[in-house]
Amino acid sequence: MSECLFCRIASGSLPTEFVFEDEHVVAFRDINPAAPVHILVVPRAHIETVADLGSDETGVMSRLTAAANRIAREAGVDAGGYRLIVNCGREGGQTVFHLHMHLLGGRKMPELAA
Ligand code: 5GP
Ligand code: ZN
Repeated sequence: MSECLFCRIASGSLPTEFVFEDEHVVAFRDINPAAPVHILVVPRAHIETVADLGSDETGVMSRLTAAANRIAREAGVDAGGYRLIVNCGREGGQTVFHLHMHLLGGRKMPELAA
């Protein structure tokens, strides 16, 4: 069995309610939400970080973005706006080393620190 948390969630071995799923992507609520809407959009394939994506894998980020946009519409945050974040590596704030996109919405996001 995979030791990777998001592989276990994506495969269903760690039962988690999905807000979206298709052949390539699953999405579920963050366990420690930083906003009223905080969804993690995750490829089923185990890719450690966004830095591992080569030029032949452009479809991965497109799929995550398309899923996030759809979830944002369904959550009703599309009109007000939302934030999509991908943390890369330890100094980038990544704590789970399976690529994921954060969808944050439902409140005014602060400006990014300089
Ligand atoms: P990162 O810091 O790697 O960009 O984001 C990882 C996110 O995963 C964090 O926001 C954290 O709250 C969330 N997270 C960690 N463990 C779990 C879990 O078991 N279930 C869910 N739904 N989210 C988790
Ligand atoms: Zn994984």
